[in-house]
This record gives sequence, structure tokens and C-alpha cells, in this order.
Amino acid sequence: MTQCEKKLCGTCLLRNPWKGRGLAHTEEERRENGLTGLLPAAVETRAQQVARWKELIAAQSTPLNKYLMLDTVRMIDEALYFQLVVENVEEYMPLIYTPTVGEACQKFSHIYRAPRGLYITAKDAGHVREVVANVPNEEVDIIVVTDGQRILGLGDLGANGMGIPIGKLALYTACAGVNPQRALPVTIDAGTNNEEFLADPLYIGLRQKRMDEDSYYALIAEFVAAVRERWPNVLIQFEDFQNTHAFALLDEYRNKVPCFNDDIQGTASVVVTGFYSAMRVKNEKLSDQRILFLGAGSAATGIAHLLADAMVEEGTSREKALGNIFLYDSKGLVSGRRTDKLAANKLPFAHDVECASTFEDAIRQLKPTAIVGVSAQPKSFNAEVVGMMAEYNEHPIVFALSNPTSKAECTAEEAYKFSNGTALFACGSPFAPVELNGKTFVPRQGNNSYVFPAIGMGCIYTRAKSVPNGVFLAAAKKLADLVSAEDLENGSLYPPLSEIRSLSVEIAAAVAEYCFDHDLAQIERPACLKTAVAQAMWNPADPQF
Ligand code: NAD
Repeated sequence: MTQCEKKLCGTCLLRNPWKGRGLAHTEEERRENGLTGLLPAAVETRAQQVARWKELIAAQSTPLNKYLMLDTVRMIDEALYFQLVVENVEEYMPLIYTPTVGEACQKFSHIYRAPRGLYITAKDAGHVREVVANVPNEEVDIIVVTDGQRILGLGDLGANGMGIPIGKLALYTACAGVNPQRALPVTIDAGTNNEEFLADPLYIGLRQKRMDEDSYYALIAEFVAAVRERWPNVLIQFEDFQNTHAFALLDEYRNKVPCFNDDIQGTASVVVTGFYSAMRVKNEKLSDQRILFLGAGSAATGIAHLLADAMVEEGTSREKALGNIFLYDSKGLVSGRRTDKLAANKLPFAHDVECASTFEDAIRQLKPTAIVGVSAQPKSFNAEVVGMMAEYNEHPIVFALSNPTSKAECTAEEAYKFSNGTALFACGSPFAPVELNGKTFVPRQGNNSYVFPAIGMGCIYTRAKSVPNGVFLAAAKKLADLVSAEDLENGSLYPPLSEIRSLSVEIAAAVAEYCFDHDLAQIERPACLKTAVAQAMWNPADPQF
């Protein structure tokens, strides 16, 4: 919603979520804007309003009800919503994004209350530009777009997927100060193959099966052209597309428009951060590691490519870098000797090695220094697997990244127990601290939120022409630098998420620096990047809101 320019009547002002401030309107504002009598007598501070909503949210018995209560605040007063989220980011992040947003998307048609964002449907083919023209925002800096086909691990949720771009953009603002009035959530409603939704009388999306591939890619192309025509510098973040579409869209657009895919590249950035931190503990080079992935999907290949880039940056040849990385999928070790047809994204990692048919055999064969779980196969990092890793390595790197928690390859407790406290562990789901051998380990989640909001902010600030992989490495390096010696000592490969706002300033500045150094920026370089980025961050407590 844009800020309305003309003077609003008292009621309209109070109902406008960008203008109305409820009881925080001063006596003078009440007199000037015809609000006298429309509000009770109390004049409150923002802090009092925050306290009331916190109480109301806390009183809700389920995460989904808390999600809805937060959404209610947003419908009434956007700045207050963001103030609540910024001040309580660790507590509310799981409500506005995973895991609660998953349930919200599953039930989106049944909890739908008010429009937000832009829906482009299969029926709009040929007219997308007119649909985009209906967006009231004069300026849009960033779009998060999904087609709802692979929402988290929940499959095809069709138009219900809109909860994802909405939630993700809220995190861009909460974590890195992206201006929410210049952020647009988009759902490409290309139909759904979800039979339950198609039969649901309250389903909000297009009631048809998914479009054929050619029409689908044509619709996306029309969307990209239309938004670029209206907002030439807009950054497009692809989110929760099905694997083959995700890679195809990234390949198609990465060199043409400023865009990225967080599932592939944001994940890679945060996992490479974990590796950089592990290298600080091991005092070794990344290019000397031998890394075995369990899983060979979007996450695995995205991470693997960025790891190879990071090794090349250390001075290793690409051939040797790729040779350090191995994938293991549902059919066994990905090897050049496999007889089945391998997907294109696996080929660079299909080395001329024996095709081990169990993960344990692959570990015996390759003796990796690191295993990375992105297979959604729970408990696959068992006592034997982690035990072998600890036998071969003083500090085995064990990243169990599959989520939700029920899908994790191992828990934090298992990783530390099975390795007798030697594992360098990172996880995809949050785990509580673990006591072992008189020491407290503090495992931290490789949460994409450490990087994507700041990457977005850095690219928006510089009006980046494109978003190459180097941006994700720059973010990873900066984040790893921000991990304290004390964090590393406690087993944490990431800093505390509660510090996200200040971490984001540093990471966004590092991203901006990369953009300036690589001729991607379209603004003049300021004297101090950190100060300039910090000043460009939207702040809900700013008096102008
Ligand atoms: P995907 O569907 O693209 O890939 C899954 C891969 O697992 C496929 O290559 C498949 O062959 C493999 N697999 C399935 N069964 C297997 C088995 N029995 N043994 C070995 N491999 C098997 O999914 P994705 O997007 O790559 O995500 C995978 C997991 O990683 C999910 O649980 C996701 O939630 C998690 N993930 C975590 C983060 C994070 O922590 N930041 C980010 C992205 C994805």
C-alpha cells in the first residue's frame, strides 16, 4: 500500500496502516486531523502499544494464532508491526517465517482476510503488464516471487504459497531494514496439481491444473519484462520453485537482471559461512577439505558450487576444487561410472570413482573431512557414520541441514555424542545447547536469514546490475568474520541471531563493497559504506513513520 498523498478524513487516517498510529497520535495531531472523539483519551507511546500487542500475542495458544495476531497488527499499523518484529526478532521470526508460515500457507485459503501483494495468474498471459500497472506502489526495490509449487517441504500449495513472499519480505525489513513500502510479494498462480485444494470450496487460487512448460516459462518471462519495465532496478528474488524450474529460471535470468534464488544461493552462502568458521577452528584451508553431501538436490548443488568458488578464490584450480566435492543421492554415490542419466546440475561432481551404494561405504571409500546432510533423510548421520568421521578426523565437520527438525540427519546431541565432542556441527533446525564431558556446546542454525536480507539490502542500496555468486561469498566471509572466538569455543559456527540488525549492516556493507569493486553498482561510492548503508536502512522507530 502506498502512502496516500491527500489529506485523509479522521476515520480514513486511522484505518490507513501507513498513517494511522492509534493511541500514539498526539493531542495536536488529534486536533489537526479531526481525530478528537474517535480515540479514547489516553495518548500512548509506541512502547506502550508494543507492550499491549506483545501481551495479546503471548496470550494466543497456538503459533498459527500468534501469526494471525501479528498479521492483525500489520493490517492496522505497519510501522508498529515492524517495531514489534525488530525488537523481538528471535521470538517472532519462527512465527512470521518457518516453521509457522508453513502451516499458514497450508491453511492460507481458510485464514485469508485481506489482500496483500500481487497475484499474476495463468489467465493474465498476454496482459501481465496491465496487471503490474495496478500495483499502487510508485517505487518497488525488491520483489520476492513464488509459484507455490514447492513451498518449504510441503509440496504444491498453489496460490496459498503467497504466505512465503509476504513472510520473507517481512524478514528483509525486520533483519536488514529494507523499506517495506518498496517491497512487493508476488505469486505466479500457474494453477496447482494439489487435488485437495482444487476440491476446496474456499481455495483462493486459480482452479486448474498447472500450465504446460512452454506457457509457464512464457508467463514468467512476461512477468520479468513487465516488472523491469515499470521498475528498471528492481531486485527479483525467486523463492520455493520446484527444483528444475528453480535452476532453469536462475540460469535464464542471472546475467540479465538483478535476481537470485535464496533456496539455492542464500543457503549456499550461509553454509559456506559455516565452513569458513570451521576453517578458523581447524586452522586449515577450504581447498584442503574433502566434502561429501548426503542429498544432491537444489540445496546440495547450490552449496557445492559456492564451495568450489570459495576454493578457487583461495587459489586452487576449478578442476581440483570440484574434485574435492562428492554427492550421494537416493541411488548412491554420484559417480561418472553410474549407468543412470544424471541431472545436469550433478554432472560437475560425478567423478571417476566407484559407485558406493551405502553412505557408510562412501565414507569408508572417500574418507571425507566434512559431511553435509541435505537429503531430508532423518537419522542418516547415525553412530556409525559420525563415529567413522571422528575416527578419520580430529574435528569432523558434520552439518545436518535438513528441516524441519523431524527430518534432520542427526540432532546436535547425537553429533556431539557420536563424535565424543569433536564434531564441528551446524544444523538446519534450532537445537538447544548440549552438555557433554563437562562442556556446554551451543549449536547454531545455518539460518538463511543471516544473509539474504543483508544481501538484498546491499544490492538495493547500490542498485546492483546483477547478483553474481561473488556476492554470496562476500556475505559468507563477512558473516564468518563476525563469529567471535568465544562463539567458536562454544561450538557455534554462527553469531547469535538476536544481533541480526547489526550483523546485517556489516554484511550489507560488504555486499555493497563487492558491487562497487566489480562495477555492479549504479550509484556513487560514499565515503563510508557502513555508515551509508546503516542510514539507508528503514527503521520503524523513525519519527517520520
Ligand atoms: P531436493 O528435493 O532438491 O533434494 C533432496 C535430495 O535428497 C535429492 O537429491 C534426493 O536424491 C536426495 N535423497 C532422497 N532420499 C535419499 C536417500 N535415501 N539417500 C540419499 N539421498 C537421498 O531438496 P532440497 O531443496 O535440496 O532440500 C533438501 C533438504 O535440505 C530439505 O530438508 C530442506 O529443508 C533442507 N534445506 C535446509 C536449508 C538450511 O538449513 N538453510 C536450506 C535449504 C534446504
